[in-house]
Amino acid sequence: MQKLHFKRALIDDAWRSDVLVEVDGTRLTRLTPDAKCPTDADAIAGLAVPGIANLHSHAFQRAMAGLTEIRGAGEDSFWSWRDVMYKFLAALSPNDIESISAFAYAELLEAGFTSVGEFHYVHHDPTGAPYADSAEMAGRITAAARHTGLGLSLLPCFYAHGGCGGRPPAPGQRRFISSLDSFARLLERSEQHAAQCGLADARIGLALHSLRAVAPDELAALADQAAQCHWPIHIHAAEQQKEVDECVAWSGKRPVEWLIDEAHIDARWCLVHATHMSDAEATGLARSGAVAGLCPITESNLGDGIFPAVSFGAAGGRIGVGSDSNVRISAAEELRTLEYSQRLRDQRRNRIGSAGRSTGRALFDAAARSGAQAIGRDCGSLKVGMQADIVVLDSDHPSLAGRADDAALDTWIFVGGNELVREVWSGGRHVVTDGRHIARDRLATPFAAVMRKLAAAL
Ligand code: ZN
Repeated sequence: MQKLHFKRALIDDAWRSDVLVEVDGTRLTRLTPDAKCPTDADAIAGLAVPGIANLHSHAFQRAMAGLTEIRGAGEDSFWSWRDVMYKFLAALSPNDIESISAFAYAELLEAGFTSVGEFHYVHHDPTGAPYADSAEMAGRITAAARHTGLGLSLLPCFYAHGGCGGRPPAPGQRRFISSLDSFARLLERSEQHAAQCGLADARIGLALHSLRAVAPDELAALADQAAQCHWPIHIHAAEQQKEVDECVAWSGKRPVEWLIDEAHIDARWCLVHATHMSDAEATGLARSGAVAGLCPITESNLGDGIFPAVSFGAAGGRIGVGSDSNVRISAAEELRTLEYSQRLRDQRRNRIGSAGRSTGRALFDAAARSGAQAIGRDCGSLKVGMQADIVVLDSDHPSLAGRADDAALDTWIFVGGNELVREVWSGGRHVVTDGRHIARDRLATPFAAVMRKLAAAL
């Protein structure tokens, strides 16, 4: 049993002072506001808020951040970026994946994310042959979670085709490809890795790469399995206009429209990006209860387009955020970029949330709650029974002088960023102290070695 005493904390959706928090294992067992700090409790200064679940990450891409910012001869796009990504990952070994993921996960924690939905699709060796353990790479992801204490929802990804209508995969995709049979074994082994990784709160779900990579019968079979196992299920959808056009040419429907009509998506689903939607699709997605998994920094970096957050929010839609390519890791900046994208499009201010209310708080609440839903984790709010996922903002930082409660959240999101995150607990594990992950130095050396190796190989 741990006892923590917070000077100020956002509990049960209200700001309270002198909050005594009791943690048993990974969960919050009691929260008592207006309490004296007992002698056996740790007194924590600053402002405590729930940690945010990062609902979408490809951890390995952290090591190629900054390597795709040179304009090519033609028009650069998502698709030319993807070509570089394929070349890059051809050189990755299981050890590399573990080193990169562990460092990226330490950075996620330092940035205020307390758990991750790892959309994991690099399964096989560089020739496309399975490793002796078909879930070797999944095991490396769970090891990275163990090294860092980050809450993990591992989402092994099914990927079978190179385009809508069952087109054959390209050579650059050979490390991703499974049949339904081989994927069943990979899933089973992934579940064992999660169960045995040493983190009581690690779990798995399921990812379908996209409608380009998964045929309708395969999607139906895996969606049934996810429903039976009560797993979250994720799919990339409508990130690029070209992908929308390809889907319409194949099926007569747009990707989100197809998923609403044919896959009968519900609250266990997360549609990652969902950037290009008609008004009818936005309303249908909102009504389904599924989460729109937005990755605003990556979507900006890749030139994807602007998500219709204002109309989607008005229809009651649920949004969470992820760091996707991990080109820049910051919970605050994901939320800021999302809000700014709406302002730039609409030529207006304060687009997300409601009149008279803090925009930062509205963004934060949406991402905390829907992120938890999307990765199937009891988090996003500090209340009894939830995971002890806690982020403490540094009230001694000059940017936060005189800023209380929601104004502090606005300042974290719009003014500061990672430098305002001082302490972090994930599942009761105190993993960031004074702004730094406790294993940062140990994890940085192998990460830097992989960075040098990969830069030389490109
Ligand atoms: Zn992605």
